[in-house]
Amino acid sequence: MIVIMQAGATAKQISAVIARIEEIGLKAHLSEGQERTIIGVVGDERKFGDRDTLALLDGVERTMRVSHPYKLASREFHPADTLVPLNGSQVGAKKVVVIAGPCSVESREQIIETACAVKEAGATALRGGAYKPRSSPYSFQGLGEEGLEYLAEARQVTGLPIVTEVMEPGLVPLVCKYADVLQIGARNMQNFPLLNAAGESQHTVLLKRGPANTMEELLMAAEYILSHGNNRLMLCERGIRTFETYTRNTFDLNAIPVLKARSHLPVIADPSHATGKWEYVGAAAKAAIAAGADGVIMEVHMNPEKAMSDGAQSLRPEKFAQLVKEMRRVAEAVDREM
Ligand code: PEP
Ligand code: MN
Repeated sequence: MIVIMQAGATAKQISAVIARIEEIGLKAHLSEGQERTIIGVVGDERKFGDRDTLALLDGVERTMRVSHPYKLASREFHPADTLVPLNGSQVGAKKVVVIAGPCSVESREQIIETACAVKEAGATALRGGAYKPRSSPYSFQGLGEEGLEYLAEARQVTGLPIVTEVMEPGLVPLVCKYADVLQIGARNMQNFPLLNAAGESQHTVLLKRGPANTMEELLMAAEYILSHGNNRLMLCERGIRTFETYTRNTFDLNAIPVLKARSHLPVIADPSHATGKWEYVGAAAKAAIAAGADGVIMEVHMNPEKAMSDGAQSLRPEKFAQLVKEMRRVAEAVDREM
């Protein structure tokens, strides 16, 4: 349930509603908009009996049942777009952000060189995995903490914030020490202990949609993070598994406007994993921006044929730089900036 306060509700009236919610043993989440305050009620609402008990409190305009299973992630609870700070930009505002870098951190030189190249081309943030979720245990698993140290060096050289994956709850504190944004990978979208740990960390999170998960499940996963009071959260559409084999995944372009309509969270598109082939990355990236994505995350490698992971979908820096120019034109066509 959400409680919509009257436009001029006082702090005292808001506190009284929160106190009532907590007295019943439920949690209250405050969302202060420009025009009015909305209070989300989280927990077993049967404890209320009659919901109108809240509607009768001073300063309350009305209460509303939220019919979907996620609440804090819903537009109803938070009508305004959530803005997530990233390198002086606000993800979710007018500027479309570009996160770029290799799939994996492979060496100190590699990540620093790539960081300089993507910065030069106009990237907002640097991506690179130090802990890699690989389908085969025999594939390169990432450099671990050594990779995080190289990422931190690359940040020092370029000033670009770092987006990197964390795969297990126990590593959240370590990855937080180095990363500006914790990436929760597609395969871990429903790793609930990891979602809880990322929520508790209060660190910025990029949550990727699982390859076989619905948008509703993605929003439920987001709800775990939000339920810890962490709303520095971005969603990411990175393609889903279908019967199609000519691309690695099927880019669900629909997810962008649908998630933007149902949720207040920024939506980032990952055209690299969505297509799996560098030739198609540009088309998917431009389509994503036209469809309303707040940013893109894409893989760039100095030497894709030698990449230790995802070379086939990695752009060379020159191609990436050209694509940034094209994406900028699309962004401007839909009244955004890049
Ligand atoms: C990645 O970003 O390199 C990655 C493994 O992505 P995903 O979790 O979307 O497969
Ligand atoms: Mn990858």
